[in-house]
Amino acid sequence: MKSEEVIQKFRNTGALLEGHFVLTSGLHSSVYLQCVLVLQHPREAEKLGCSIAQNFQKKNIQLVAAPAIGGLVIGHEVAKALGARFIWTERENGTMTLRRGFSVSPGERTLVVEDVVTTGGSTRETIEALQAAGADVVGAASIIDRSSGEADVGVARVALATLDVPSVDPAVCEACKRGEPAIKPGSRK
Ligand SMILES: [Zn+2]
Repeated sequence: MKSEEVIQKFRNTGALLEGHFVLTSGLHSSVYLQCVLVLQHPREAEKLGCSIAQNFQKKNIQLVAAPAIGGLVIGHEVAKALGARFIWTERENGTMTLRRGFSVSPGERTLVVEDVVTTGGSTRETIEALQAAGADVVGAASIIDRSSGEADVGVARVALATLDVPSVDPAVCEACKRGEPAIKPGSRK
């Protein structure tokens, strides 16, 4: 699947919002990707999952892991396409953790999947949690890369599309300087 085709899916489903936003990373941007508006359509989720999986068909992936909540739907689809197991991490007292009885076999070949990578922070934390549990994390993937390819998560990383809209520190945000309120769509009703 081509990058433009992926971005078009976001436009078609109203998942690409324009305004003044606080991203999960804390950075501000004029564009927000509400991935769930694409992923609410199971067939679209499945296609995106298959496209990510194609990059890892020869990597003998046994386990796909994703940070909750954002990575759940796409992670599940990638795992399904690869015939792998799927588990997720979630925050417990601020630390990304495996809960719910999820476990990892020593050396289990693992792919970490997220919806959007901006700074790579939650992918990195998920990788660390999996490595601490004994996994061999062989790659990472996301639907969208907002880092212009710069997020370093310590393992090979792929994204289906790159969004070249700057994400900036609030201290240097032009919209903030103009006094426009920033909204956090992730928590908006
Ligand atoms: Zn701002």
